Amino acid sequence: MLSLLTICILLSISGVVNIVGTVDSHAQPVGQIKSIDSDKEKTAKAGYEPPFAASKKSDKYHCRSCLEVNKIKPANLIWFNSACDAQAAGYTPCSKCNPLDCSSPSLTPAPVPAPTTTPATLISTILLIQGPKNAVHVGDRVTLIGTLARPEMMDGIAGALITVKLSLDGKNWVTIDNKNTDGNGSIRYTITVPDPQSYGQKLPVVLGYKFSYDGNDTYLASEGVCTIKVVS
Ligand SMILES: [Zn+2]
Repeated sequence: MLSLLTICILLSISGVVNIVGTVDSHAQPVGQIKSIDSDKEKTAKAGYEPPFAASKKSDKYHCRSCLEVNKIKPANLIWFNSACDAQAAGYTPCSKCNPLDCSSPSLTPAPVPAPTTTPATLISTILLIQGPKNAVHVGDRVTLIGTLARPEMMDGIAGALITVKLSLDGKNWVTIDNKNTDGNGSIRYTITVPDPQSYGQKLPVVLGYKFSYDGNDTYLASEGVCTIKVVS
């Protein structure tokens, strides 16, 4: 009886060469080893060699070079592309050729990195403000109606803080109030038309009202302006 050294060489995923050698005291006659070689040549010509083999009649899987493989009748011979495939099919590693174990660290898939969260794209907003079309008088009660919305949707943005500003010259703005939009993204702001003389100006005068939204993590800032002509 020949004593042959069976060498199993496997390339692990990490590229480390894993060499396991065992002495097989139940080796096969040389003639049959040649038949393995010729089979391997045929498979190699086909372009691919599955690295693991097993018998339908056994519960062990082997390196393809294991001499136990040669004992398996062709009808019972099955091949596996990976140790994990073999173990998933219920096979355990052969104790003679010691094929790569599915649970060895080199076969454990690298942890998938958590998907990087891309910053949300800020949504643009539009702030419309509607006032009286006609001239008003000092002391009149006037309601300005503002709406903060996404321009492409025109659905209101609720609960947004709107700053109300006043200008007598259209250049310099003074904050006069703050108000939150309602559930529809609207605000109604009622003013009593001030007397421009208290600001050192004479009638007629054009008052400017501006609604400003500063934006947040979701929405971009926007503002809307309307003018009110005040006559005597
Ligand atoms: Zn084996």
